[in-house]
Amino acid sequence: MSLTIAIDGPSGSGKSSVSREVARRLGLAYLDTGAMYRAATWWCVRNGMDLDDQPGVAGLVEHIPLVMVTDPQAPTVHVDGVDVADAIRDSAISTAVSAVATNLVVRAELQARQRAVIAGEAVGGFSGGQGVVAEGRDITTVVAPDADVRILLVASEDARLARRARDVHGTDDAASVDATRDQVLRRDADDSTVSQFHVAADGVVTIDSSDLDLEQTVQAVLSVVQR
Ligand code: C5P
Repeated sequence: MSLTIAIDGPSGSGKSSVSREVARRLGLAYLDTGAMYRAATWWCVRNGMDLDDQPGVAGLVEHIPLVMVTDPQAPTVHVDGVDVADAIRDSAISTAVSAVATNLVVRAELQARQRAVIAGEAVGGFSGGQGVVAEGRDITTVVAPDADVRILLVASEDARLARRARDVHGTDDAASVDATRDQVLRRDADDSTVSQFHVAADGVVTIDSSDLDLEQTVQAVLSVVQR
């Protein structure tokens, strides 16, 4: 039997590290859907596309040569044969990604590809076959509302900013948190226009990771899976 675990949450909620670790422990594939929107943004920038040109962006992303490698031990993203895992974490991509992710044609295209991975039809580089942990902003509600397990991972704004600062700057001192604040809050606001990821939909279990470390959050997710 194939298991689908859907995990949504805002930036800094810890959902990527937690989802990947849960997938690794359960022997499931790991799908980072945020990486798909980031890769689409990278592809548009690489092709010199004006991100305000909605039809242009849509036309480009509909044919993006994107391969998601879903092995939780070594997940990565290839676009046109290039490994873009590092490039898509660049601050310029983080700033630009919401403009691409709020394009409804882009969303429809990437959501269809996400469903194909979840259905086991397009698993790149990982033959888990036992199922998948898919994480993002609209997995519990739009992409996989029938998932076996649906979780919303939340955290206080302070905890989220501190985590992002540690990810990006290697420290959560006041200056690093300040440098992170604008981008995180603007992205939250922009992303909220197309997906609801601060409030759990019916049947979705909320886990608050504000005061939990990675292991405690993984355990909290695993206990929901085992219910
Ligand atoms: O999760 P991450 O912060 O890497 O996501 C990057 C961006 O991708 C988000 O800010 C959002 O614009 C977009 N995204 C989305 N729907 C998802 C996952 C991510 O719109 N399911």
